[in-house]
Amino acid sequence: MPIYEYECPQCGHRFEYLVLSSTPAAECPSCGNRDLKQLISLCSMSSETTRQANLSAAHKKAAGVRGEKTREEHKHLHEHYD
Ligand SMILES: [Zn+2]
Repeated sequence: MPIYEYECPQCGHRFEYLVLSSTPAAECPSCGNRDLKQLISLCSMSSETTRQANLSAAHKKAAGVRGEKTREEHKHLHEHYD
């Protein structure tokens, strides 16, 4: 779903607006102005992708750490009962 970022030249309000085929023209939620400046959202999109990539890398790392810890606890359990 395309989300566009608009800036209202009248009051300087910036907002994101989800545009669907049925959506009426965007208007400023602050002052109701419809003469909006559309901001280029490509860079926010690519940073989103980067963030998701970082997130999945972090998840893998966390999973690795978790596995390590479980093994450690398991070993500890054995030591305790031996
Ligand atoms: Zn406005």
